[in-house]
Amino acid sequence: MAKMQFKAESKRLLEMMINSIYTHKEVFLRELISNASDAIDKIYYKALTDEALRFDQDNYYIKVVPDKENRTLTIIDTGIGMTKEELETNLGTIAKSGSLAFKKENELKDGYDIIGQFGVGFYAAFMVADVVKVKSKALGSEEAYKWESTGADGYTIEQVEKEEVGTEIILKIKENTEDENYDDYIDEYRLKSIVKKYSDFIRYPIKMDVTSSRLKEGSESEYEQYTEEQTINSMVPIWRKNKSELTDEDYENFYAEKRYGFDKPLKHIHISVDGTIRYNAILYIPENIPFDYYSKEFEKGLELYSNGVLIMNKCADLLPDHFSFVKGMVDSEDLSLNISREMLQHDRQLKLIAKNIGKKIKSELQSLLKNEREKYETFYKSFGRQLKYGVYSDFGANKEVLQDLIMFYSSKEKKLITLDEYVSGMPEDQKFIYYASGESVERLEKLPQTEFVLEKGYDILFFTEDIDEFAIKMLMTYKEKEFKSISSGDLGIEGEEIKEDSESEDKDSKELFDYMKSILADKVTDVRVSKRLKSHPVCLATEGEISIEMEKILAAMPDNQNIKADKILEINKNHEVFQALKEAFENDKQKLDLYTKLLYNQALLIEGLPIQDPVEFTNDICKMMV
Ligand code: ADP
Ligand code: MG
Repeated sequence: MAKMQFKAESKRLLEMMINSIYTHKEVFLRELISNASDAIDKIYYKALTDEALRFDQDNYYIKVVPDKENRTLTIIDTGIGMTKEELETNLGTIAKSGSLAFKKENELKDGYDIIGQFGVGFYAAFMVADVVKVKSKALGSEEAYKWESTGADGYTIEQVEKEEVGTEIILKIKENTEDENYDDYIDEYRLKSIVKKYSDFIRYPIKMDVTSSRLKEGSESEYEQYTEEQTINSMVPIWRKNKSELTDEDYENFYAEKRYGFDKPLKHIHISVDGTIRYNAILYIPENIPFDYYSKEFEKGLELYSNGVLIMNKCADLLPDHFSFVKGMVDSEDLSLNISREMLQHDRQLKLIAKNIGKKIKSELQSLLKNEREKYETFYKSFGRQLKYGVYSDFGANKEVLQDLIMFYSSKEKKLITLDEYVSGMPEDQKFIYYASGESVERLEKLPQTEFVLEKGYDILFFTEDIDEFAIKMLMTYKEKEFKSISSGDLGIEGEEIKEDSESEDKDSKELFDYMKSILADKVTDVRVSKRLKSHPVCLATEGEISIEMEKILAAMPDNQNIKADKILEINKNHEVFQALKEAFENDKQKLDLYTKLLYNQALLIEGLPIQDPVEFTNDICKMMV
């Protein structure tokens, strides 16, 4: 019989995984039991909705069989089984190639553990077993097959005899080593406690033959051993349990078991509603971003159960986009089992549940923000972008819900603050909420415009993500305060006196500036005296809706429309450079040409915009030097 090779990449991934992802080897059992439970879910669902299948609760169970003599552990399920093809595709390849490419690019960079994010639960078996055999008979098929593998070097498949539909996984348990007592995994007592710990709430019975001793009949001192089949798990799903009975660890185990994520959840939300709609839900706010979260591949959604039976893996309608990071499940008695995806979208119950869940998530996030600030900031670093995107999308339909959850970096506080915190800290004379957008905090701190606003005693919010300014434009105001970019033409700060003063000076310099404007032609809409520059000679300001940052973002978009901001070149009249300009205007127009271009290009550089002709720019500087 030919030995099939695992797809090349699987082999590498498998080796890495076996050695790296799971800190406790015992979780292999959780993985195999959860696969068994998934498989029974599938056949159970079929049996409930298909009259032709016979229905008997006793048909659905999982059995764990340790065998000390042969050093094997067998996990039997009465699930839907696998065909030959399914054995190959489900167990023969771990990750799809795209994921491996992703891993190569990202894993080394930040040590981000990605392996765990694929369906690799089954392979955990190789942590404790030298050989794994999977015998399976699929529902509706005549033949059964056996898949067998010793780990990384491939697998074989052959036809075998198997009476019942379902799967049997036989592990040849490794010999003990110095570090690891593999005997645990053929030990009844240990196995029982592992099942209890990780799989207690599995809704099907997990059975095991348990050996006990009892007094021999008629004797008062002689004991005999006897074996009896026991159900080890309580079978009450965690979401049906009372919150007070559950510990954080229970919720964390459920999160791991369900493969919602490989991080520890930041927060769990357990909802039990028993009113006009009835449902239970367990929701999680993860700590880390799933690797594909900000990509097209990411699918949001919650698991949907109808009275304990899983009917959908990812019900997207239960989660608004702005909370798409939430993981978890919903179980409702009021949903029909036979409901189709299309019907679900229009289901009134489901809509009510979704609305309810949205509110609950919001209030939980608010309380996290209020009571566990550090945790909230961790959350925000992962998913803040999604919240801001939520403010912006759907024409701002959700901005009310989200505006109190978003945060920005405060130049004064040097940390993230909410809009509410910003507004509460505003001095009485401050009219606007000021912001600056750019690549990084460091860069924004050095912007010439920043100095002036900060000196006024006003805080500036630093926008460093693409979405920030767009979100704010959608919000327009917060608590009736308008947002204002520190680069906008009119800052709304200057007192009337200074205005008059500078207006007369403006007149003086008008000819000079008009001349400079004519040199720069359509590159700028105006050249003006700056009212905001302190120590720096020059900066760019903008008028109108499009800021410089937005221009950059739009330019990077695939369908870029070449949209430009209306730029104003502002000159600091208190700077020596201004005198030099005046002199040149009077005595040497060629020099003024040169100075104007240099200043304009400097202003571009400060804003992080590309210079159109860098060679000319450097030549101009050389001209100044000689
Ligand atoms: P995941 O459970 O995350 O999909 P696994 O590696 O645990 O990943 O399992 C891979 C696939 O193998 C499952 O999705 C399922 O299709 C199949 N499978 C595993 N165990 C069983 C089983 N006991 N019965 C039927 N199918 C199974
Ligand atoms: Mg699995």
